[in-house]
Amino acid sequence: MAKYGEGVYSTYDQPHTFRRLNLSGITVTEAERQVPVIRDADVIVVGGGPGGTAAAITAARNGARTVLLERYGHLGGMATGGLVNIIPNLADIYGHQWIGGFCQEFITRLKARGAADFPPQEQWGGSDPALVSKYLKANMGHFYVRQNADGQRVVLYTAVIDPEVGKDELNNMALDAGVELLLHTWVTAPIVENGQVKGVMVESKSGRQALLGKVIIDATGDGDLLTGVPTETVDYMRPGSRIAQFGYVYWIANVDLEKYDDFAEKHPEELKEATQKITEAGGKPFFTRGLLEHQKGVVWVHRLLGSLHQTDTEEMTFIDSSARHTAVRSWELMKQYLPGFEQSFIMLSAPQLGTSGGRRIKGKYYLTEDDMDRDEPYPDTIAIFADNDRGKLSLEHPRTYVPYRALLPEGVEGLIVACRAFSADHEFSEFFNLIPHCMCFGQAAGAAAAIAVKEGIPVSQVPYDRLKALLLEGGAILPED
Ligand SMILES: Cc1cc2nc3c(=O)[nH]c(=O)nc-3n(C[C@H](O)[C@H](O)[C@H](O)COP(=O)(O)OP(=O)(O)OC[C@H]3O[C@@H](n4cnc5c(N)ncnc54)[C@H](O)[C@@H]3O)c2cc1C
Repeated sequence: MAKYGEGVYSTYDQPHTFRRLNLSGITVTEAERQVPVIRDADVIVVGGGPGGTAAAITAARNGARTVLLERYGHLGGMATGGLVNIIPNLADIYGHQWIGGFCQEFITRLKARGAADFPPQEQWGGSDPALVSKYLKANMGHFYVRQNADGQRVVLYTAVIDPEVGKDELNNMALDAGVELLLHTWVTAPIVENGQVKGVMVESKSGRQALLGKVIIDATGDGDLLTGVPTETVDYMRPGSRIAQFGYVYWIANVDLEKYDDFAEKHPEELKEATQKITEAGGKPFFTRGLLEHQKGVVWVHRLLGSLHQTDTEEMTFIDSSARHTAVRSWELMKQYLPGFEQSFIMLSAPQLGTSGGRRIKGKYYLTEDDMDRDEPYPDTIAIFADNDRGKLSLEHPRTYVPYRALLPEGVEGLIVACRAFSADHEFSEFFNLIPHCMCFGQAAGAAAAIAVKEGIPVSQVPYDRLKALLLEGGAILPED
């Protein structure tokens, strides 16, 4: 089974158990106060990552007055601010594309600006040796190369994007669609009345405020609204799994890769020694090459750090500060020992610490490991995912279906979850909570919200034929009738 990071990242830290003193039992009472309501919208989307941007833009394009709230100053979430700019598994190993819609539109727009790179369509599922070796040399095999049933290495449809152009393009798409953006705004709690989510509380430089909406979409990645609604959540992650890790990502620029390659080819033993010296001195000398034409001499480092507490700020503080130290130390050692890195510098560390796992809903349909082997669509299928990461099982079951019910929490109305907090167990999340998947959840949530608002019906009652029609109109790829 191809495991995330295998052959790409050779070091996995063990989940650590660092915990500070918890003053449990001591509380304070907050004073009751009047809070100004700053918007009364149709749809409020919380979080401007892959799920949230897809949701807000789709809802607005379909006529809903939509507000998008984001805690940082840019859109894109982990795909831009987290520097994890690889959008994988858009087609299956046989070259059949399954993810279209918002995700494909985003990639197409970036391609037109020279800010996306992917293999040519005729090569998806093909075995062109030059292309295969390009991705393997870049340390991108996990995202681009698989073995087919004949043991041949084939290329997948995966795209890399320029995160800065990505932020700008998402702003353009949102503003063109008529989404009202509120950046630098932290959402702190849902407003719930009689099991109906009616709005959200926010904190920002403008103070504590409230926004009301007919439909609220949680696209915070971590399901931040879920702690305030009466619904069941799960947060189990298998230690050592992909989702049980924080990611600290940084980019090193001005690397002379020709010099590095020349040295690696002519002096493999010396390279091994240099790598060993860096490792012994506490550095991590592993990197991935940037694939974009205008990023020659840029390499990316994804440090993965095991953790089972990804919504705990003490843990995040520890991870951020220790990973930052290791990053700078590694680069100093690479400069010292690796030919080609002499003039390099760390151009950017991700403004957003990478989170892969966290709380998830146990919704109206709970996706589990068994659902990955299911070959039939659901009666309310909102997305089909290429299943490329489960080795032999993927060859047998190259598609995975997702029902609309997996976005709907139990026990509350007015709330849709359109991010990696969707309803799934840890095994399903391990494979299907990536950027393209969350964009599909977002597109479906936005379309469903627009229908619910227009018809004046609860989100749980949205007729599937209407939802399917809107998704197809938006370019989504869905089961044929
Ligand atoms: C190291 C690492 C590498 C990865 N590599 C890849 C990869 O190569 N390809 C891939 O497809 N996936 C990758 N992933 C997974 C992928 O990044 C996520 O699954 C995906 O971004 C999830 O999208 P999302 O919309 O659910 O959440 P996010 O991308 O986390 O977006 C959530 C957004 O909500 C905002 N937000 C959060 N809380 C609040 C709040 N309370 N108030 C206001 N705003 C809020 C955040 O600032 C953010 O903009 C990686 C993850 C990690 C950690």
